[in-house]
Amino acid sequence: MNTLMKRLAVILLFVSFTFASIDLFAWGLKGHDVIACIAEHHLTEKAKENIDKILGGKSMIYYSSWIDNVQNSPYWINGYDRTNTWHYFNVDEGFTPQTMPRNPKGDVVSALNMIIDSLGNYQNELSDSVKIDYLRMLIHFVGDMHCPMHVGHLSDKGGHGVRIKWFGQNTNLHTLWDTKLVESVHAWSYTEWQQNLDRCTQEEFDEMSAGTPEDWLIETWHITVGIYEYTKPEENYSYKYMYDYAPVVERQFLVAGYRLAALLNKIFG
Ligand SMILES: [Zn+2]
Repeated sequence: MNTLMKRLAVILLFVSFTFASIDLFAWGLKGHDVIACIAEHHLTEKAKENIDKILGGKSMIYYSSWIDNVQNSPYWINGYDRTNTWHYFNVDEGFTPQTMPRNPKGDVVSALNMIIDSLGNYQNELSDSVKIDYLRMLIHFVGDMHCPMHVGHLSDKGGHGVRIKWFGQNTNLHTLWDTKLVESVHAWSYTEWQQNLDRCTQEEFDEMSAGTPEDWLIETWHITVGIYEYTKPEENYSYKYMYDYAPVVERQFLVAGYRLAALLNKIFG
């Protein structure tokens, strides 16, 4: 085993322990930080100012995974458990996002639409605590809807039931896409991810950030369908998978960041 492989093995082991308890719900911490960081770079001055006020001077990155933490802590009794289903939108094989029966407890599309509508009147109708909660959720859920396994099959719990190996280590398809693949593709900090991805023209930004949460969900779902076809249960994946899917991870982070910025500019700008 060369040094690089050893380091990779250590990183993978660390990641698998660190995220073992929270990988049910999100891109890993890194993905949400990257998306929030990209979005922060595209806020208008006015939006930045208003968001700053609501977040009490903390950054969007600071709060990008807040909802994962509160809903998994004992504080869920404060009502955050109602958001458990808001991180994803399952679509089983043989269905499309339009034909799949909706989760009566809510999904990432209904949650985002509700939050966008509510924040649209943030100056008049929302208390300070609801305002900050919805803003922190918006930052997070736009990220989640761009994570392919958050549009996975209900029958395998969004890929949790698809066992595979990643560089010889046991894992599942959901965890691969939330954290392991991201951490393997580049060993960058969230600012380095932003600096290396966020290089588009204004025209490209406008093009990528167009659309609605429904459109973005359908786009992610098409990617998810391809991943299910590509990834065979019990197979061991490594460099080839990384090579094929690194551009997809990078693009999903970038468009999620741009779309989040566009939404925030519309609401707060
Ligand atoms: Zn999440």
